[in-house]
Amino acid sequence: PYVISEPCLDVLDKSCVEQCPVDCIYEGERMLYIHPDECIDCGACEPACPMEAIRHESVLPDQWRDHIDASRAFFENL
Ligand code: SF4
Repeated sequence: PYVISEPCLDVLDKSCVEQCPVDCIYEGERMLYIHPDECIDCGACEPACPMEAIRHESVLPDQWRDHIDASRAFFENL
């Protein structure tokens, strides 16, 4: 799946939400999260983000990799 990371924090622009064909981008208190089991890997959200916060998890920079687990934790705790 794609993952939203650090640059979204306290920004929540939400341009990505409109692009997602399966509505799998959810709003948390401080950032948005992509549901890892619902994302179909279409990539439509990535260029929509003005913060460039979205990447496929396979190419996520090392310093943002903890967002993979944080994202799963967000949905487990809903
Ligand atoms: Fe939605 Fe596609 Fe982005 Fe996954 S990659 S969150 S399906 S827009």
